[in-house]
Amino acid sequence: MLSSTLARLLASGAASSKPELVRASGLARSTVDAGVQELLERGVVRTTGYQQPGGRGRAAAILELDPNYGYVLVADCGRHSAYLKIFDVHQRPVAETRIRIEFSHGPEVVLEAIVAWFRSALSDLPHPAVVAVVGVPAPVDHRDGSVVRPPFMPGWDRFPVTHYIRDGLGCEVILENDVNLRALGEARAMPEFSGPLLYVKAGTGIGVGIVTSDGVLMRGADGSSGEIAHLKVTGHDEICVCGSRGCLETVASVGALTRLMVGAAPATPTTQEERDLFFSRLRDGDPAVRASVRRAGQYLGEAIANLVHMINPHRIVLGGSLVDADDELLATARSIVYQQALPISTRELTLVRPALGVDSGVGGGLVLGMERALAPDRLG
Ligand SMILES: [Zn+2]
Repeated sequence: MLSSTLARLLASGAASSKPELVRASGLARSTVDAGVQELLERGVVRTTGYQQPGGRGRAAAILELDPNYGYVLVADCGRHSAYLKIFDVHQRPVAETRIRIEFSHGPEVVLEAIVAWFRSALSDLPHPAVVAVVGVPAPVDHRDGSVVRPPFMPGWDRFPVTHYIRDGLGCEVILENDVNLRALGEARAMPEFSGPLLYVKAGTGIGVGIVTSDGVLMRGADGSSGEIAHLKVTGHDEICVCGSRGCLETVASVGALTRLMVGAAPATPTTQEERDLFFSRLRDGDPAVRASVRRAGQYLGEAIANLVHMINPHRIVLGGSLVDADDELLATARSIVYQQALPISTRELTLVRPALGVDSGVGGGLVLGMERALAPDRLG
């Protein structure tokens, strides 16, 4: 616990010497001495020179995390592409790429592509991987590191993702829902975090990640917090991929709007070509497509207003491919939220686009990865 506390203070920049660690931690000098000694011996921390002594007293050694300790790997996966990035312990990126994947091709094909790129990139780097964080567009069971009944993803239900990647990379693996990672990344990007924060993703799928006022993810008892895709929309009864009817996903997801445009049956998968056509018609101002997106914004706004009543968030971030593609959707959803939610719930509320843009998920993955790399049971 002691080593972890000190390492986190060094990682956050709150301290960079023993005197500063004493001040920041409130621990006794002798305790800090012992903890730093252990971190130095284990190769987690190194000294990089001496601070100029202010007034009297000896110069204090400057301490920082030792890059030799290893790398944090992050894979932020959507259904059709993955953003892969390697960071050193100073949270600086050292390698990155984007690869095309198709979750519908099954877990072995997708995970092997991810593992192959990381192995290749690591072979050119001097240090080992400490931990890999993998975000997936599906509900995650954190007890065994698998995904649970994801729609349009044959072969993934209960597939042991964590084990597979651990075998491939030889490091610890954390599996997390992609929207949860985005929420965490956006929370840590705020100069002064004030929660709760909700990240609402509206794209191929719809989901919400929740970061509490304490800055931690709210995953729920089974890891399925924020599954708003299956909230019921009044006046609709289209069949949903979940087997139920009238879910938000059947009227406000890119899949639903694309099916509407091409006249496809409900709850069937769409092709890349169909989705590309949808986005190009939206960009070109096709009246029918524009109207369908405006309605989607209203449904999303109504769902978000309900969340506002329940959670009273401080900040709501609205992201995802549908939001990225349409300038009006955020404004539509925002006006519905302010119409429908109680003034007491919206007094402090801001509803914004992602501050990190497409990097929200990777940012959240880095947060989880650093926490794990410096966790008490790894360092103690
Ligand atoms: Zn549903």
